[in-house]
Amino acid sequence: MLFKKFSILIIFLTILFTTQPKAWGYNFLYINPTTGAPIGWEPGTTIHYYVDPGPLGRLTNEQARTLIRAAMDVWENASPYADVPTFEYAGLLTEDVTGENYGQYVDLVGCYSDSISLCPTQTQKDLKTVIVFDEQGTILSRELCEIGSCNAYADAGVFSGSASNPGNFVQAFAVFGPLLGRSSTPITAVVATMVHELGHVLGLAHASVNQEIYIHGSTSMARYIPTMFFFSHIRDQGSLKHHAQP
Ligand SMILES: [Zn+2]
Repeated sequence: MLFKKFSILIIFLTILFTTQPKAWGYNFLYINPTTGAPIGWEPGTTIHYYVDPGPLGRLTNEQARTLIRAAMDVWENASPYADVPTFEYAGLLTEDVTGENYGQYVDLVGCYSDSISLCPTQTQKDLKTVIVFDEQGTILSRELCEIGSCNAYADAGVFSGSASNPGNFVQAFAVFGPLLGRSSTPITAVVATMVHELGHVLGLAHASVNQEIYIHGSTSMARYIPTMFFFSHIRDQGSLKHHAQP
C-alpha cells in the first residue's frame, strides 16, 4: 500500500514538473498566438537604427544620439546573461520628424512582412528602425499617447510572417518627448527613460516586480524598482542591476 502511494506521488511529481510552463523573468509585449512563445528579434540580430536629425530641447542632436547610444550599451552589456541584439547606427533620417510629417515615420498600427504594402508608414515598408526626437511633443500627444499622456513611446512596427503566424520583430521605433530635453530633467533620468523605451524596442513589456515599493516603500528602497516598471521613478532606473529582491 505504501509502495502504491509512493508510485502515485512519483507520477504526480512527474506530471507537475513536465507540464509546468516556462517561467520568464520578464513580461513580453507580444507572444505567438499559436505557440505562446514570446516574440522578439531573432537572436544575433544587429538592429540598424536611423535617427531623427533634430535636437531635443537643450540636447543637440549629437548629444541626444550619444545618450541613446549609452542606453543601447546598457542592454548590450547584459550579454552573455541575455541574448540581446546589438544596435548599429545607420545614419540620420533626411528630414526632422515633426507633428507635420510623422505619419511617414511612426504609427500605432503594426504590420507583417508577408503583406508589407499594408504597413502605414514608409519606414515600416523600408524596415528602417527609427529613433525620433519629438521636440514639440505633438507626435506623442496626437498619435502615440492620445489616451494617456506619456513622455516617450516605443514599440515594434513590423513582424516577419503574418498576423496568424508572426515570426520576429524586423522593425521598431522609439519616440522621445520634450520633457527629456528640459534643463530640469537630470541626464541620468533621460538615459533611464531611453533604456526603458529600448526595452520595449527589444520586446519587453512592463514589469510589476517590487511594485509595493513604489506604493509604500521608502526612498532608500526605490533602487529595487525595475527598469521596465511602468513609471519612471528614480534616476538610476537606467541600470539593469538593481532587480533583485530587497
Ligand atoms: Zn514603458
